[in-house]
Amino acid sequence: MKCAICSREAIENNYCELHLKAYESIVKKYEQWKKALEISWKEYLSEIAKNPLTGEWAKEVAEYLSKSGEKENAKTS
Ligand SMILES: [Zn+2]
Repeated sequence: MKCAICSREAIENNYCELHLKAYESIVKKYEQWKKALEISWKEYLSEIAKNPLTGEWAKEVAEYLSKSGEKENAKTS
């Protein structure tokens, strides 16, 4: 199975190792943002997608997630 974003081999949750790591850090960071801000998952994704400090991998994941409309809690484990 291939990664949902690039053509590498997916290892978990339809992501390759690099995109999986980026995805996990996006989810983790959202937990912190939610404590400080009234921000929805969608708003958060567009914020990080346009943030110049966001890494390439994370940006690709954010764009993919906002397009696919994946819910915040799709991955609970
Ligand atoms: Zn990938």
